[in-house]
Amino acid sequence: MHLALPRKWRPRVFEDLIGQEAVARTLSNAIAENRVASAYLLTGPRGVGKTSTARMLARALNCDRGPTVRPCGECASCREILERGESLDVHEMDAASNRKIENARELIETVRYAPQRDRFRIAIIDEVHMLTTEAFNALLKTLEEPPPYARFILASTELHKIPATIVSRCQRFAFRALNVKEIAGHLERVARAEKIDATPRAVRLLAEAAEGSLRDALSLLDQAATLAGGAVDEARCAEILALIDRPLLEATISAVAAGDRAAAVAALSRLTEGGADPRHVLKELIGLLRRLLVIAAGATSDAADEEGERLTNLARAMPYENLLRALSLGLDAQIQAPRVEDPELILQMLILKLAELPRLRDIEDALSGAAPPAPPRPPVGPTRGSGAGPRIVSLVSVEPEMDESIPSPRPAGVDPITRFQDVLDSKRRVTAAQVGLAESIRVEGDELVLHFGIDRAAPKEALEEPAAKKLLAEAAREAFGRPLRVVLKTGPPADGDLGKAASEVPRATIARERASSRAESDPMVRSAMELFRGELTEVKEEE
Ligand SMILES: [Zn+2]
Repeated sequence: MHLALPRKWRPRVFEDLIGQEAVARTLSNAIAENRVASAYLLTGPRGVGKTSTARMLARALNCDRGPTVRPCGECASCREILERGESLDVHEMDAASNRKIENARELIETVRYAPQRDRFRIAIIDEVHMLTTEAFNALLKTLEEPPPYARFILASTELHKIPATIVSRCQRFAFRALNVKEIAGHLERVARAEKIDATPRAVRLLAEAAEGSLRDALSLLDQAATLAGGAVDEARCAEILALIDRPLLEATISAVAAGDRAAAVAALSRLTEGGADPRHVLKELIGLLRRLLVIAAGATSDAADEEGERLTNLARAMPYENLLRALSLGLDAQIQAPRVEDPELILQMLILKLAELPRLRDIEDALSGAAPPAPPRPPVGPTRGSGAGPRIVSLVSVEPEMDESIPSPRPAGVDPITRFQDVLDSKRRVTAAQVGLAESIRVEGDELVLHFGIDRAAPKEALEEPAAKKLLAEAAREAFGRPLRVVLKTGPPADGDLGKAASEVPRATIARERASSRAESDPMVRSAMELFRGELTEVKEEE
């Protein structure tokens, strides 16, 4: 039976870890010298061996003949973990897909009990940064006074989102992203062992497409070999990687550049109708925007002549600032896509927003000072009873109606809504980032109203969790100097014009979302965000 390559080639001993020699050595030494910590934290990009290492570590700790660097692979504990990733005393949980507080707490509580059969009770928590505040608190409590047989192996792609109190109690191992050469080298070894006839150029193509993830690279090789019937050449690989129709993707961008909503949406539906995964389309779209941006920035295209010419024309069709905005909106959509049920909706919303960017030019010109009267500013101040319904506007600063009897804790010059976000940020960065995704934040009487666009259901839902709401109320009290009821609203703008919303939002949104995007560990996202920092400073100075 065909066993998928990523699974078959999952590292089983520390020496098998590709490109993580430092981690492998330190871990092996610690186990060999019987210096076993009560909690381990494995951090680094996706697809480089964190979960495999967590399972290896669990086997090393619980092997009948252990703790040992070389678990036997035959005892009940070893076999169960090898087969299922779990055992009677090893429990694995993916916090990204299992966010319910009861589950996390249950798992953390379970580990407090004595093991049923093996040496330790071990909890493996993947994507641990996704835990709720309560779950983190339960974890912290256990880590502060760990029962002698409890062990935690935590893994995360986003170290900065884990509370420092947790990080400081863990022995940390930093995994690194692999370069194309390392991935290609490994693919060649696997291809030889699997009798897959792959040309060096084909291997390189696959390695590049994997963007640092060994797991993705193996999965691509698997697909290529299956479809090619054993002989994998460059053309076959290009076929696999181009499951997305390139001309159609370019046509989508072209329609977006022309501000032609209907054509853009039509091109997009033809892309997804073919069965392409919307997340994959999104990724390719971002990849294309990124190339256009590089070309627009003055770099010569690395593409073949004909393609280079086509891309150059496409890059010229959009003003440079709009390319930057488009990429920013794309990255935003990419962050949301894994968290919603219907990623295609996110993709559609993105395309509609992008198609509005050409109209944004006029406002830009007006703001630059060259043109006469500035456009009307978004409404400022409480809009209770305006009758217009919720409007999507940029961040609106509102003077709270201060109660005379309560002295203001607010230093002069700081807008209370900014302060609210700062306070939140100091309490819990994830919550602050989610609030940053709101289209508007305003005070209406005794209420602090956070309005979310319909494409922002996920962060809104997360904020509705009781713990998050409590945090919001606390931060509001601190920032405004009086208790405010936090109200979360969602829905399209009153006039139903999504395009208008898109044209009004980007400036503030881009700035606010820098914080949440900044730490994306994806190398592509990172380099794009680096590009952005320069641009954003300029945008700010204009105001
Ligand atoms: Zn064993």
